[in-house]
Amino acid sequence: MTTNEKVLINKGAIDTPYRVLQTDVKQDSLFLRKKSIDLDVKNIASDKDLHFFINRLKLTLAVESGVGIAAPQVGLGRNLFLFMRIDKEGIPVQVAINPRIVNHSQEIILFEGDGCLSVPELSGTTKRYAWVDVEYYNETGELIKERLSGNSREGDFTGVIFQHEYDHLQGVLFIDRLAETE
Ligand SMILES: [Zn+2]
Repeated sequence: MTTNEKVLINKGAIDTPYRVLQTDVKQDSLFLRKKSIDLDVKNIASDKDLHFFINRLKLTLAVESGVGIAAPQVGLGRNLFLFMRIDKEGIPVQVAINPRIVNHSQEIILFEGDGCLSVPELSGTTKRYAWVDVEYYNETGELIKERLSGNSREGDFTGVIFQHEYDHLQGVLFIDRLAETE
């Protein structure tokens, strides 16, 4: 990581959340529209700055009561996000590093109540894939390949969370995916 990135990560103690960038703040909205870049996977397990960042990002997700958060939402332009495993017992928070969507359903579903920690006072129905085949590294540097099929607002919507967070890494927000409503 660069010196500037290390400064950003370490500005504040382990028990303090990061400030979440907001689309109604000019500087923030410009940053949220940038594409993030990959992390060096060889160093995942041993990178102290990275693990410090992941811990504070988890805290940030918890205090914001979110179901997912991406690194660029706190000002780090790197391909990393957290997503809640609604499909797993105890709903653990999963770390996804350098994530990819390698395949997806042809079927498009309408997901009601999509919203974002960076977009104040707005939610809406978005178009999402019914399932996605994904690959990412976890925080120990292990490559995970799996299909995430949860897309039900009432039940499991893990697959939709992954799609929403993946979009953040491309500079895409849920407001770009809104379905046309009558
Ligand atoms: Zn979001």
